[in-house]
Amino acid sequence: MPPASTSSRAGKKAEAAPPDQRPGGLPDAGSRRDRGARLLSWYDRHRRVLPWRAAPGERADPYRVWLSEIMLQQTTVATVGPYFQEFLRRWPTVLDLAAADLDDVLRAWAGLGYYARARNLHRCAVAVARDHGGRFPDTEAELRHLPGIGDYTAAAVAAIAFDRPAAAVDGNVERVLARVFRVEEPLPAAKPRLRALAGALVPEARAGDHTQALFDLGATICTPRRPRCILCPWQPDCAASAAGVQEDLPRKAAKAEKPTRRGTAFLLCDGDGAVLLRRRPETGLLGGMMEVPSTDWTGTVPGADAVRAAAPLPGIGWRPVPGTVRHTFTHFHLELEVLAGRVPQPAPSVPGAVWVPRAGLEAEALPTVMRKVLRHALAADAAGPDGDGLAGDGLAGDGLDEDEGADG
Ligand code: SF4
Repeated sequence: MPPASTSSRAGKKAEAAPPDQRPGGLPDAGSRRDRGARLLSWYDRHRRVLPWRAAPGERADPYRVWLSEIMLQQTTVATVGPYFQEFLRRWPTVLDLAAADLDDVLRAWAGLGYYARARNLHRCAVAVARDHGGRFPDTEAELRHLPGIGDYTAAAVAAIAFDRPAAAVDGNVERVLARVFRVEEPLPAAKPRLRALAGALVPEARAGDHTQALFDLGATICTPRRPRCILCPWQPDCAASAAGVQEDLPRKAAKAEKPTRRGTAFLLCDGDGAVLLRRRPETGLLGGMMEVPSTDWTGTVPGADAVRAAAPLPGIGWRPVPGTVRHTFTHFHLELEVLAGRVPQPAPSVPGAVWVPRAGLEAEALPTVMRKVLRHALAADAAGPDGDGLAGDGLAGDGLDEDEGADG
C-alpha cells in the first residue's frame, strides 16, 4: 500500500491546528456533522463482518455485544472469534451463562488471559439474570453498575446495543483522534482530551454505527503503522496527515521497565502419569485458576529452604528439568525452574490439591503460563532416561505464547 502521506514530513510539521477546531479544542457542530456523515457513509460500504455484529439494519443483541466487548479487552479479534462462537454454542443467552458452573466458564475462557474478566463475566450474567430479569439495562449509568463493566464497556454496549449517544474510547479510537486532531500530548495524560473529542463527535442518530465505524477505521485504515490515509474518509481534515506526522501519533510516555520474578514449580506425577494440581486463591493474579504447586514468585531465585518448604510432599527425589519457562504478564516477567518427581501407586492425597489424569489436563482451567510449564516438563519427563514414556501431554497447543495479564 502507499505510504500514509504523499507529502514530505519535514516540510509540513509546522502547520497549524485543523481548521475546524474552536479555541476550546473541540470540533464545531457543522464539522462534526460533516465528519459523522462521511464516516457513516464509509462504514456502510466497508464495515467488517464480525461474529458478534448485527447485519445492516438489524438490531444488535446486547448479550453478544457485551460478551464480545469483554472478550476483546486486551485480545485480538482473530483470537476472540473461536472463543466467542464456543461461548454462544454452550450458553446462547445471558440466562444460560448465569446458570453455568463458574469452573466451566473458567475452563472455556482458558487461553484468553485476564481471568478476573471471566469471573466478572459470570458475576455480571448472574446480576443481569437476578436483578434485571435477564435483560441488559440500556443506559451507560446502569450498565456501569454491573460487575466487570467499566466506562469503556458501558459506553460500547450502550451505543452498539441500544444506540445511545455514548463515546466508547479504546486504543484504536485514541489513535484515530490523536491523529485527526493532532494531539501531541503523550498518553496516558492525553486521555481526558481524547475522551472529550470522542464525546463531541458522537451523533444523535446511529450512535452504534458511529462507534463501530470508529473501531473499524482504527483497525483497518488508521493502523498503528503505515495508516492508509488515501482511503480514509477523514483524510481531508486530518491534521496529522496534513502535517505528515501521522505515524508519530499518538505519543506515549516512556514505560517503566518490567521487573523479573523467579520461582520453582513442581511437576509431581503418580505411577499412572496423573499430575498434581492445586487451585490458586480466588483473588489476585490468576485467581481461581489451576496450577502446579510452586514457590512464591519473587525478585530472587528461591533458595533451598524456600524450595523445600514449598514442595507439595516431603521425601520426593526431585530432578531438575533442563531449561527455564518464561512468561510475561502485564506488570512483570516470570522465570520458572521446574523440578519433576514421581510417587508410586497408590498416590497419596495432598491437602488442597488433586491428581488429574493426563487426558484430563486439557479440560482444566489452566492459565497459559501453567500450560507452558506442563508442556515443558512433561515433554522432558517423557523423553528423559527415567521418563514414563506416556505419549502426549494431554494439552492442546493453543495460546501458549499469549501474554496474560495480572488481574489482581
Ligand atoms: S485519521 Fe485517516 S487521514 Fe488521519 S492519520 Fe488516520 S488514516 Fe490518515
